[in-house]
Amino acid sequence: MAMINISGKHLVEDANYRYQMPAVVCRTEGSGNGIKTSILNCKDIALHLQRPVFELCKFIEYNMHTHAKEECDRLVINGHFVSGQIQEVISGYIDKFVLCRICRLPEVVYRYKKKDLNTKCLSCGHRDIILDKLSKVIVRIHKDTKKDKPKKDKQKSKPKTVIKHVDTDDDVVWFTDLSDEAVAARAKENTCGI
Ligand SMILES: [Zn+2]
Repeated sequence: MAMINISGKHLVEDANYRYQMPAVVCRTEGSGNGIKTSILNCKDIALHLQRPVFELCKFIEYNMHTHAKEECDRLVINGHFVSGQIQEVISGYIDKFVLCRICRLPEVVYRYKKKDLNTKCLSCGHRDIILDKLSKVIVRIHKDTKKDKPKKDKQKSKPKTVIKHVDTDDDVVWFTDLSDEAVAARAKENTCGI
């Protein structure tokens, strides 16, 4: 697979550049009004950019003014496009979301503060804000994921509370007794306690 430097629209002419990504490999599917273009290696590209595929998908959709969706391992775009066109749009994405504006290295990580998509460059430390239609989507998805997390943590912490209670207030032997009577008694106790 042909590899190219991660450089956005300003090419980096360095054969030994450490930041590389696979060049876009696409295929035309269908014909007429139903013609589509599939990016066959979208997962690999996203992996090298250290970004999720959905960001590429949405950015392409917004900037190529068409519909795009993830389908199995491919990214399917409505319409006929050549790889150069898609590469150009992905370069635009890299410029905005992956490269640091100061040192131009793809070392930018996201920081979520309120409604903005803040970034920090792990190489030079430059902090920035990405203002783009896609930024809002990224922040919203991050918030939604965050909302789900505390529920899981709560469930995980429950057993800890029970163990603490057993150790301090109750007879530990009682809980290690696995006889039928003991199990039945324990079930009864639990029912009464509710
Ligand atoms: Zn930087």
